Amino acid sequence: MRYEYRFPELPELKDTSIWVENRGKRLRTKVEGKCPLWLRVIRRWYFDMFSFTKPIVQSPDGNFYSLYLPPIPSPAHARMFSSTISSIYFKRPLPLAVTIGVTTDCQYLCAHCSAAGRSESASILSLDELKRVVRECLDLGVSNITFTGGEPLLRSDLEECVACVPSELATSQVFTNGLALTINRARSLKEAGLHGVQISLDSPSPEEHDRLRGMTGAFKAVKEGVKNALDAGLYVGVSTYATKRVALDHTLVKIVELCHEWGAHEVSVFDAISTGRLRDQEVELLDAPSRKVLLKDAKDMNRRYRGKLRVVTQTWTNSGHGLSKVIGCLAAHMQFHVTAQGDFAPCDFTPLSIGNVREKSVAEIWRLLLKHPAYCKRSMNCRMQDPDFRKKYIDTIPEGADLPYPIELLESEKRPQSNS
Ligand code: SF4
Repeated sequence: MRYEYRFPELPELKDTSIWVENRGKRLRTKVEGKCPLWLRVIRRWYFDMFSFTKPIVQSPDGNFYSLYLPPIPSPAHARMFSSTISSIYFKRPLPLAVTIGVTTDCQYLCAHCSAAGRSESASILSLDELKRVVRECLDLGVSNITFTGGEPLLRSDLEECVACVPSELATSQVFTNGLALTINRARSLKEAGLHGVQISLDSPSPEEHDRLRGMTGAFKAVKEGVKNALDAGLYVGVSTYATKRVALDHTLVKIVELCHEWGAHEVSVFDAISTGRLRDQEVELLDAPSRKVLLKDAKDMNRRYRGKLRVVTQTWTNSGHGLSKVIGCLAAHMQFHVTAQGDFAPCDFTPLSIGNVREKSVAEIWRLLLKHPAYCKRSMNCRMQDPDFRKKYIDTIPEGADLPYPIELLESEKRPQSNS
């Protein structure tokens, strides 16, 4: 596969093309037209990084490196790269990814659910509304769309949501607990154009996973879900989260070994964050020593399964390690979240609403987010794990309020207090 990457947003680069080709596992690039030095440097760094990393799968549609990235090269990835270059050039972030809630329903009542506490009173987005939201996200330049919940597979029209993501513009994935991921459902999602699924796994121990999910057979459902998704031809990731204890116990090693045995392509490790049902509980959050253990395990696993399975950790990008100097907190930088009721939140874990897509366009709310004092500057660390941010914006959310809580309201409530 060989594809021409262009930069339509940048007048200075109107005659510039970067041709990207996957020759086996390596990526080759060739510049045509005038190309400033800064772009040559970025091109080299960016594509060499992938050549060094090695793809998990090589396919005629491009090399597959991660469920969070379109295959390289591909039209969708050309959009992602072009948005990245525009963000750097204009010093104004353009989102690359969005997570969209499609339902609040779920078969489980997990202790760590990040969606818990979300408004039950507001109606969920209709299919037509969801299609409009997807279109607006694509117009804004998003090239990776994740459908989430609740449990998205409980929505019978999920295939129609997936079908409105053209593969030449973006890749789509679904975050699921796997319980309803039968072979027929996996096939119909694949036929609708789905790129991949991320199935959540809390523990490598069947008993512990079942306990955390509150249902016997939950672990078996994950294993079967992985198999069904693979049989249907989907890319498969397994997502999990790390507390301090999980990291220090090297649980990640056992999870990755299991996922490799099942044939999964990727394991994503999110930090445990005090949000959703965990918001008011004592959570053993990762600290510097446990992050170090987690990152070492991830590195070892990536070396062991290179070219077969990838381990990606949130810690690598947002906590002063690894890519944190380039990426940092994804909110207001690379991604945002739309809840099933249309609230626009900075990310899936942040219980704050910047506006509602029923009242304003996605682009309009993205611009509001970028102007907000809490989000107008890049944060290299996770805001939801930053005590100062939490003190100001999370701890002040009124008890029992529907989430995500309007950030505007939070500020107007603060004003009279400070005047008194
Ligand atoms: S606050 Fe930032 S780093 Fe933390 S979970 Fe949200 S996007 Fe990720």
